[in-house]
Amino acid sequence: MQLVFASNNLNKIKEIQSILKGSIQLLSLEEIGCHEEIPETADTIEGNAILKANYVTEKYGYDCFADDTGLEVTALNGEPGVYSARYAGEQRNADDNMNKLLDALSDKEDRSAQFKTVIALNLKGEQHLFTGIAKGNIILDKTGNHGFGYDPIFQPENYTETFAELASDIKNTISHRAKATHQLIDFLNAAK
Ligand code: IMP
Repeated sequence: MQLVFASNNLNKIKEIQSILKGSIQLLSLEEIGCHEEIPETADTIEGNAILKANYVTEKYGYDCFADDTGLEVTALNGEPGVYSARYAGEQRNADDNMNKLLDALSDKEDRSAQFKTVIALNLKGEQHLFTGIAKGNIILDKTGNHGFGYDPIFQPENYTETFAELASDIKNTISHRAKATHQLIDFLNAAK
């Protein structure tokens, strides 16, 4: 089955492709000739996933899925959430974002947080949403070199390492994105 994956983020494409293991052939935005920036102007994670999937389906006529992810921190009422990429400013810098988050949590007892990924799938004229959650805690200092984004300060529950210390195949089994992607794959297999 061919599907457009509406993303320009090479990290995500690599991660999702390694989870898919060839059961589904993904077309990138480049492969369908979509070179423009797709607007991500919604104020929820779900809303942004839907915006991106609808953009490709409406403008290019392809079945498509799009994902959006945020880190929701309990003591910050779910922030940075949909604003995770640009939490510390439009420069979208991972170190700046982590430093701002560590500052914001410096006087908080509760350091629990969760990553949430929502995938919006447009298939044969219908839309379906899949949500994956990875619960954990924000640790005190950045640790580890793998991954991207907030990985060095996020310790998933039941692990003593951060996402940035875990091998990528382990992260790809337990992550928010993996969970949402597996729901997508199960749905696609059942819909065949
Ligand atoms: P996106 O919607 O997947 O582009 O994610 C938005 C932002 O959330 C990213 O720019 C990262 O800051 C953060 N993020 C998403 N997924 C992860 C992850 O797996 N680890 C760490 N940070 C992530």
